[in-house]
Amino acid sequence: MSDEENRRSEHLSPQATPAEGPLEVTLRPQRLEEFVGQQRLKDNLRVYITAARQRAGALDHVLLAGPPGLGKTTLAHIMGNELGVEVHTTSGPAVEHRGILAGLLTQLEERAILFIDEIHRLNPAIEEYLYPAMEDLAIDVPTGTGAYSQTLRLPLKPFTLVGATTRSGLLTSPLRDRFGIVERLEHYNADDMVRIVLRSARIFGVPIDHDGALELAKRARGTPRIANRLLRRVRDFAEVEGDGTITNAIAQRALEALDIDSVGLDSLDRALLRSIVEKYDGGPVGVDSLATALHEDRDTLENEIEPFLIKEGFVQRTPRGRVATQRAYLHLGLDKPSGKQGSLF
Ligand code: ADP
Repeated sequence: MSDEENRRSEHLSPQATPAEGPLEVTLRPQRLEEFVGQQRLKDNLRVYITAARQRAGALDHVLLAGPPGLGKTTLAHIMGNELGVEVHTTSGPAVEHRGILAGLLTQLEERAILFIDEIHRLNPAIEEYLYPAMEDLAIDVPTGTGAYSQTLRLPLKPFTLVGATTRSGLLTSPLRDRFGIVERLEHYNADDMVRIVLRSARIFGVPIDHDGALELAKRARGTPRIANRLLRRVRDFAEVEGDGTITNAIAQRALEALDIDSVGLDSLDRALLRSIVEKYDGGPVGVDSLATALHEDRDTLENEIEPFLIKEGFVQRTPRGRVATQRAYLHLGLDKPSGKQGSLF
């Protein structure tokens, strides 16, 4: 198989491209009731927000964990709207030194939200500086140099830190322990994805029928960001090749042209499955061998390619390596050799 064949479709990345930023803002639900799905999380947040409003106090610090594109940034802004406070945003890598963090914290109005995206990427020295801010509403600012250096303790107004992370396992426990509210976002089910596609189509003013929305929803890997991106591409096909309405047939035709198959896999995903099945007889195969076979690095394989395949039951992670499941064979149009059944563990 050539490299050309097993490429990652740019349409399936859960990360936003810079050009997408402004478009995403127009699609962002503004209130909790507009936010589709994640019912348990919404119910909890509604209670915490109502309680904070009744006390006229700041909401407890909130940690939102979960894969990219599921709505963490959106929720931070929704919390701001529901509380009637401003939201200031930054990200772990953008806070390059203590001064930046001190500047952000001291400028916060009473009860405002400071949103730190990718909080697991904060530099550890800066992270420590956050602890007294979260706990005691104070920061220690160094003044003077050398023998004359002192620290000055500056009080802060009550505020809420909302941290978002795609890798909650990478968060240090002192930081995690300082969040009163920890919530996890899960991939969306098909019904919720259909609702998200219909809502976005309404905002874009694109006609779409239910079956068209369903086809799009099925292929968007449970991720609203991907659904919204696919919607924009499929709209182009509907306008050029159809009468402007996204039907099931138009959605199928467009998504095939974008190399996204009926369950949201692209050629790189299928190459991984084929590799386990054809080169390693269905597995188990170690992740390093697989990475070499696909010309990908281990990190990309483990963090970007595999999780969806494992979640959807195409691949199993076993102590001896990766194994292709019955579903993988079926998807590739192959029969699983009966002798392979016992090789899973
Ligand atoms: P994250 O911060 O987790 O990467 P975002 O909050 O930036 O994700 O969401 C990505 C896009 O998906 C945004 O345009 C957002 O409006 C949309 N989106 C995310 N979750 C939902 C949802 N539950 N309902 C409707 N749209 C959503």
